[in-house]
Amino acid sequence: MRLPKFEYLQPTRISEAVSMLQSNPAAKLLAGGTDLLVNMKHRVEVPPVVVNIKMISDLDYIRHDNGAVRIGALTPLKRIYQTPFIAEKLPALARATSFVGSFHHQTMGTLAGNLCQQNRCKYYNQSQWWRSTRPTCFKAGGEICHVVNKEETCYSSYCGDSAPALLVMKARVALQGAGGSREILLGELFSGDGKTPLDLRKGEILTEIIIPAEAAQGVSSYTKYANRESIDFPIVGAAFWGSTEKKAYRVAFTAVDKSPVRGHRIEAFLDGEDLSQAIVAEASKLASKEATPVKNSIFSPGHKRKMMGILFQSAVNEATRRPG
Ligand SMILES: Cc1cc2nc3c(=O)[nH]c(=O)nc-3n(C[C@H](O)[C@H](O)[C@H](O)COP(=O)(O)OP(=O)(O)OC[C@H]3O[C@@H](n4cnc5c(N)ncnc54)[C@H](O)[C@@H]3O)c2cc1C
Ligand code: SF4
Repeated sequence: MRLPKFEYLQPTRISEAVSMLQSNPAAKLLAGGTDLLVNMKHRVEVPPVVVNIKMISDLDYIRHDNGAVRIGALTPLKRIYQTPFIAEKLPALARATSFVGSFHHQTMGTLAGNLCQQNRCKYYNQSQWWRSTRPTCFKAGGEICHVVNKEETCYSSYCGDSAPALLVMKARVALQGAGGSREILLGELFSGDGKTPLDLRKGEILTEIIIPAEAAQGVSSYTKYANRESIDFPIVGAAFWGSTEKKAYRVAFTAVDKSPVRGHRIEAFLDGEDLSQAIVAEASKLASKEATPVKNSIFSPGHKRKMMGILFQSAVNEATRRPG
């Protein structure tokens, strides 16, 4: 499959990349390209301009800063799970990054690219030929949704693996745009709109992921349910973080809604409790209420809801088996 024609730009500084995005509003950033280039080949994304940020130096690092861990946007996924501190102290992130696609995706794919990947839907992630048998849907620029056609909303799902792991760690992201830089909680990056899943200002680039010191003081894990063990997006993914000392817990899911979602009901239920098998089993019954999956994949919403509870329990078991 061939790429469509596009203008190729290769900045060497972040400010240069920001001004390229500012002057080309329809341009797309290219990091590892493992998500964008596939979408371009399928003609679901056809940007006239592609801005390759891989030549920008100093966006590929993992640094310690007063207990916090700072990860540059272009850090490959493979380096993240191969870093001993992350494997030992932030196992949810190590597992999530090691579960992305295949080894090739983990070698080329970057952490920011993983967080900023496009939402997915069985009517969208298809070849142009496959899609030509139906009217074009909202996300691809048309006037219909083949999943829920009640309002002009796209119900595609966010399917990134690393986002739930970083959400339960209360990670923040640094963004740089024309007006300078700002830092937001990772959860604020996601718009909840399937058509435009990221809430970025014009020309903004995600430059760094910041994991607070507290994250390494608890136990964590990420579990993924997929068709095949390798080269598959999650059907459902669940992340868990907990401080057994403070009896405080955080839960997040992916592939079940337009954005990755926090399991606030489960968190409130577990707050202040010891993690016994019975209480975790009780909490897992709340999982199905934490998101609104729709029929945008070959798996039914009911099946996804059921798997959310099962995966939450296995994430807790996996996390608490490890030393904190
Ligand atoms: C066969 C296959 C299987 C896959 N399996 C999985 C999987 O199991 N789990 C999973 O999570 N993903 C999966 N992916 C998707 C993809 O490989 C990964 O998400 C990867 O981490 C994307 O990173 P990248 O650097 O290649 O992103 P790119 O493709 O370069 O970019 C992805 C998107 O993010 C934007 N972007 C990139 N960097 C920035 C930045 N710094 N600031 C703002 N926007 C940015 C780009 O414009 C683009 O829209 C799969 C892909 C394929 C083709
Ligand atoms: S949810 Fe609807 S609008 Fe969105 S990609 Fe799927 S078919 Fe298209």
